[in-house]
Amino acid sequence: MPVPPPAMTYSCPSCSWSKTTAPASDALGPGDWFAECPKCGHPDLQVSRANPLATLLAKAGRYLHR
Ligand SMILES: [Zn+2]
Repeated sequence: MPVPPPAMTYSCPSCSWSKTTAPASDALGPGDWFAECPKCGHPDLQVSRANPLATLLAKAGRYLHR
């Protein structure tokens, strides 16, 4: 059974946009990762392991969207 990748927090150093994603499986779908800032288009987002609270919120959000 594949282990889901850890939740990651993407943040934009240009406009302070940030989002935490919690992929449901090892197959990343739309909205699970960002190559650039969706708000201002900045291409180099900072990516870090999400903290436990952000992970929880991201998973709850994924659940609510179903
Ligand atoms: Zn931005």
